[in-house]
Order: sequence, then structure tokens, then C-alpha cells
Amino acid sequence: MTVGTPQDPLRVAIFGSGPAGFYAAEELLRQTGVSVTLDLYDRLPTPYGLVRGGVAPDHENIKAVIKIYERTAKRPGFRFLGNVSFGEQITRAEVLAHYHQALFCTGAKSDRRMGISGEDLPNSHPATIFVGWYNGHPDFIGETFDLSAERVAVIGNGNVAMDVARILAAPTAELAKTDIADYALKALEKSRVREIFLLGRRGPAQAAFTNPEIRELCELEGVDLVVHPGELELDPASEAFLAASKDPVHRRNVDILKAQIPKGDGSHGRKIRARFCVSPVEVTGAGRVQGLRLERNRLEGDGKGGAKAVGTGVYEEIGVELVFRSIGYKGVGLPDMPFDERAGIIPNAEGRVLDKPAGQVVPRLYVAGWIKRGPSGVIGTNKPDAIATVAHMLADAKTLALPASPFDPAPGAVDALLRAKGAVAISFADWKRLDQAEVARGKPLGKPREKFTTVAQMLEELRSS
Ligand code: NAP
Repeated sequence: MTVGTPQDPLRVAIFGSGPAGFYAAEELLRQTGVSVTLDLYDRLPTPYGLVRGGVAPDHENIKAVIKIYERTAKRPGFRFLGNVSFGEQITRAEVLAHYHQALFCTGAKSDRRMGISGEDLPNSHPATIFVGWYNGHPDFIGETFDLSAERVAVIGNGNVAMDVARILAAPTAELAKTDIADYALKALEKSRVREIFLLGRRGPAQAAFTNPEIRELCELEGVDLVVHPGELELDPASEAFLAASKDPVHRRNVDILKAQIPKGDGSHGRKIRARFCVSPVEVTGAGRVQGLRLERNRLEGDGKGGAKAVGTGVYEEIGVELVFRSIGYKGVGLPDMPFDERAGIIPNAEGRVLDKPAGQVVPRLYVAGWIKRGPSGVIGTNKPDAIATVAHMLADAKTLALPASPFDPAPGAVDALLRAKGAVAISFADWKRLDQAEVARGKPLGKPREKFTTVAQMLEELRSS
């Protein structure tokens, strides 16, 4: 059948309004040869996914990308349906009965497990939860973190680990000027944290963080980034890797760290101790975290031009009272959708969803972003990723086979369904009212915004304003 005319536009549902969802929406709506109308769903009343709930509050400039998404939201054919959960207020069967195609951009909202003893002791947390907490994400506002701890470990060398270490170490007077959740700011103001161990299992040449993020830690007011000179000495394989690498980021990371050597332990009250080639093998403690047992690693070729960490059988213990495990996000499955538990993604062939055992393409279902490829890359990485999936969607739309079962793509039909199921869908205009109210709440506090942190608060604001 032919869809994509102004009379019979291609109707698409997108689930997840983070970067991948918005980039896909833009790509679909900017087409000139095909008419598309789409509904961009989010389970929260607020859009933007990790740009709102993940990007650190002191990285306001990164959030400027929202302006691009706002332009997409103004395009004809765009609707935002916030506060609607896939699998609850709208099922897979209902989606397929009301849209020609559905695209899942639901990200990776859980965390990877380390699989070590003591991982779940009280005061050992996934970094993802801490991030959601300080960003006022409704899922995490009830969390508590024992910031009476003086010594803290942040496990992992990615940019999330950088964010967590920085938020723990930064002067709260600086954080007070950001959109950090008020309860998090109050808790951090009382924090007694003075020593943060940043633990990389491989060497400085292999670290996943990027130059601005490690540099920020070096430049934090009142904080020393302390390195072990011996751990910055590169083995021949790391030297060869740096020499061969076309991307200067790794070499610069090493240079930035080496530049810290002359200051030794420094003179400030707070220390971030960057350690390399150490793997936590046990979180120790009785009833709560008291330490971490670390195994020293050496690096060995991984057969793919990189290096892997191999335990040496040499151990040390560090005393810490709080642990943040920052070893990567992990996707979670969606109701009635195929899921690859091990990889934490919806199985797919370049964005076309595959059913699990047979690996056959499931018609009309697609993925983009972290739920497609796993939790890697920066915000902008999701643009080409989403565009690639949309290319397949548009190609498939030319030979769309719809089921014989009832199919009604009229927007009014899905609205009626959502109403009948008791959903209170939040439009983009509603969101903009919330947005303005948040900005107004932030103004007297000198913050760019004071977020609403519960769905009830958001709905109440919309009812009363
Ligand atoms: P990531 O970049 O994948 O880093 C994960 C880190 O955990 C790596 O250092 C990894 O070491 C380590 N790790 C994994 N398993 C481990 C284990 N069992 N024991 C010890 N260490 C382990 O993940 P992320 O930090 O969660 O960030 C996710 C993505 O968001 C990244 O692409 C990141 O750049 C992006 N992000 C960007 C920003 C920004 O631009 N400012 C901010 C936040 C996040 P190996 O390398 O040895 O595997």
C-alpha cells in the first residue's frame, strides 16, 4: 500500500524523547518526498531523556542542544505525548493498530553489574542512581547517600565517573548556581567527603574519559587531582597504541594526568586520587561498606589492537565508606518486545527489530540510540544512528504490509484509546508551561531552573496554572 501522501501520511510512534528520539523525529519530519506525522512518547511528563536526567547540572552548555529539539517540536506533524508508558497505557498490539511504524529509543536506564562479593552492601551504589538523584529524576528522588563518609571510591574511568567525582568534590557554592535538585544540593552542602578514589582497571592511555572532563577535575577549586607517577608510566603496548591512534584524545589524557605529577599530594582539603591498572575484586565490610580490595593489573594485547587488564595476583586494600560503581549503563527490556539480556539491547539489524530465537525482522518495529547499539558515544552520536534507522523505515514504508486486523491511524483514534485507558498525556505546550514555571522557580535562587521532581507536582502545576 502507498502511505506518505499528505492525505495518508506515514504515521509513526516514537517511544523515548531523549536525543535519539528527537533526532529520529527531525529526520522523519524534514523529508520532502514523503508526508510523516508522528507522536513522540515519553513515560515522564518531561522530554529530553538523559539531557535532562543524566547530563551533569554544571554542564549547562551541553544542555543547549535542547534548542535544536525545540525546533523539531515546532515542525508540522509533531506531537509530544508525555506521561504515557509503553506497555501500560499503550501496548505493542495497540501501537501496531494505530501507527504504520514504531521506533523505540528508550535508552539504557539500568546499570551493569560488577559481579564481585559485597557489591550490594549498604553504601555501595550504581553511579546511575546517584546521577538521577542529583538531577532530580522522579525515579530517584527517594534515594539517600551517606555523605558523612570521608573516603569514597568511584569505580570506572568513563565520563559518568568524571561527573560523579566532580559533583562529589565541587564547591557547593558553584553547584548552587546550577539546576541541581535542591535536596541534593542540601545533602552535598553537609558532605564530609574529602578523598575520592577514581579507579581505572586499565591504564591512563586506555581511559574512556575525554579531555575536557579530566581537565575539569584538575582545575576544580579547592581540590587536588593526585596521581601515582608509576601508574602513568606507559608499557610498550600502550606507547604503540598511542603512536598508532589517530585520535589525539588518549595522548592528551595522558599528558593532562602527567602534568599533575609535580604537585605531588597538593595542598587542598579535598583530593581526587586517580588510580590506574587496579580492579576491585571485593567490596569489604560488615553491614556496610568499609573498604575495597583491589587487584593490581598488567596490560595484555586483546588481539584487536587494544589492551585488556589481566590480574597479577597482587592485592591491596583501601578504606572507603561509600562506593559508586560507574562501569556503564545497561538497557532494560520492554513489555512484549524481544530483548537481548546479555547485551542489554533490543536485537536488531541496523535498527530493524529482530525477533529473539529466529533472528527474523519484525515488520514495522525499529530501534535507535542506546537500546539499539548499547550505551556508548556522546549525545551527537545518536544523530547518525537515528538517521540510519530512519532510512530503513522510509525504505520499508514503500512496501508496507498492514495486518488484516483493525487499523486506524487517525490521531484522534489513539487519543481516544489513551483517554479510555486513563492516561493523562502531556503535550509539548504543557511541557513548555512546566519549563517556564521551572525557570521562574529558579530565578530567585540564582539557578537556571528549579526542577519539578515528581510527576504529581508536575500535574498539579499544570492543573493550577
Ligand atoms: P563508559 O564510557 O563505557 O565507561 C565505563 C568505564 O567502566 C570504563 O572505564 C570501563 O573500563 C569501566 N569498567 C567496565 N567494567 C568494569 C569492571 N568490571 N571493573 C572496573 N571497571 C570497569 O561508560 P559511562 O561512563 O557510563 O558513559 C556512557 C557514555 O556516555 C559514554 O559514551 C560517555 O562518554 C557518555 N557521557 C558523556 C559525557 C560528556 O560528554 N561529558 C558525560 C557522561 C557520559 P574499560 O575501558 O577497561 O572497559
